[in-house]
Amino acid sequence: MGYDRMRGTECPSRREFLAMTGAAALGTLFGCGGGGGGARPLAPGREVVIIGAGVAGMAAGMALREAGVGFTILEAQGRPGGRVFSNNAFPVPFDYGAQLFQQAVPVGDDPMVTRNPLFNIAARQHVTMQPAFQTSVLLHEDGQPLSQDELLAYFSTGTLMDQTVNTAGRAAAMAGSGDISVADATAALMGQPFANFALLAQYEADRGQPAGKISCQDLWEYSRWTSAAFGLPSTDNWFIRSGMGNFVSQFAAGLPIQFNTPVTAIDYRGPRVQITTPNGVIDAGAVIMTASMGVLKAGKIQFNPGLPVIYSEAFDNLTMGSIGKVGFEFDADVFGPLPVNSSVGVVPDGSSDKFGAMFAKFWGTNMAYLVMGGPSCEEAERGGEAGLIALATERLVHMLGPDATGHIVRTAVHSWMGDEWARGAYSTSLPGHVASRIALQTPVENKVFFAGEAAALEGGASMEGAWLSGQAAAAHFSKRGVKH
Ligand SMILES: Cc1cc2nc3c(=O)[nH]c(=O)nc-3n(C[C@H](O)[C@H](O)[C@H](O)COP(=O)(O)OP(=O)(O)OC[C@H]3O[C@@H](n4cnc5c(N)ncnc54)[C@H](O)[C@@H]3O)c2cc1C
Repeated sequence: MGYDRMRGTECPSRREFLAMTGAAALGTLFGCGGGGGGARPLAPGREVVIIGAGVAGMAAGMALREAGVGFTILEAQGRPGGRVFSNNAFPVPFDYGAQLFQQAVPVGDDPMVTRNPLFNIAARQHVTMQPAFQTSVLLHEDGQPLSQDELLAYFSTGTLMDQTVNTAGRAAAMAGSGDISVADATAALMGQPFANFALLAQYEADRGQPAGKISCQDLWEYSRWTSAAFGLPSTDNWFIRSGMGNFVSQFAAGLPIQFNTPVTAIDYRGPRVQITTPNGVIDAGAVIMTASMGVLKAGKIQFNPGLPVIYSEAFDNLTMGSIGKVGFEFDADVFGPLPVNSSVGVVPDGSSDKFGAMFAKFWGTNMAYLVMGGPSCEEAERGGEAGLIALATERLVHMLGPDATGHIVRTAVHSWMGDEWARGAYSTSLPGHVASRIALQTPVENKVFFAGEAAALEGGASMEGAWLSGQAAAAHFSKRGVKH
């Protein structure tokens, strides 16, 4: 989930990164969706098979359709959207996965034309949106708000940490080496007031990983265009009232998607590619693979021959985090004076590392979202959906008091670690391994093309990165290129 998540997607900086790291030698696949290098005209028919109908797969399909290239999408599940899907039984839709447009940083004078192509589509469609995190409240575990002095101390530590992490990440990006973990970058600050909470809230809960496994450079590549890069409160995250999953599912319309068709093997030994599914083997000229990093790491799709080492290393170097989201509906207004769509965080007392943040009074309804992440969430997730609900309910009591639980009429949750078609929430690079995202952008023998959030550098871990990555993969099949 996107608490001050980081962002950015622009060709020059990618090229700049490649030039500095020397990674350009890996290949030519950095078209940024513009249909640049490696144009590969194919005969009409089912020439490209896209694996996965998530954001990346649908973006690739739309781009191929526009370019007049024949394709089919094979999707393991019975619905589109992948890690973006809504539950419509609530007063306003509850999103199990992605919920916020992020990196909605204006690129010119019009605030509704931003770096996030999905946000831009939503803006053109005039759907109801609102900037997130406009009102934030921080509480102690006893429900008492932090005093002014405590708030100042927290913001001072948190800002210092962001600056330190960003500086380390930026330096590594510029030098092409020397990346360190968030834990190492912030070690000297751990004596500051609220340092444990800042580390948890700003990094570990956001990435679903311990700070020692989070690369500063990976965060910088994401945040470089945003207000967060300057240590300012984030202004580029937006809620959508009608549900992100509902919004994203519109892109499936008219696409040739074969649902309930999990791919188990890809044989690219010959001039063409053979794709194994329970319904038989499909022949194609090339494959765009958008299955999540979790699925790829688990070896659920066999490649024949085995993938070259840069890909298996990338699978090792990109981790999948534990993020829990629980939706609550109440039979009364349990929020007291909290404003609509406000975010509420609880600072764990003592040595606890339990993190929970709430979106309260969601769109004015008796509904709240609890977002959790970090070590305590991972532990809770081992107990499956019940474990996540138990942790969320415990955090909720600190926010709304014990009486609120008596008013719960509905909950919804999805364990992303337990989801066999995701196997985690989203990817983060281990320190020193951001180039693994770039390695994934390099096609295997011009037959297997990886796309998806893990293959995105500046939009990694996000929908917009997945979208642009899908378009970039598709652009290789069209001389005309692909429009954003
Ligand atoms: C809890 C949570 C909160 C998030 N919050 C945000 C947010 O607020 N904003 C944001 O921008 N991003 C957010 N994200 C991240 C965002 O959801 C992802 O980055 C993005 O949706 C990834 O899209 P994708 O197409 O790369 O992958 P996926 O969505 O994983 O799509 C891959 C598709 O491939 C299918 N598949 C897998 N294996 C196979 C197979 N063997 N055969 C056939 N099909 C297969 C899957 O079923 C899936 O449909 C969040 C994610 C989670 C989990």
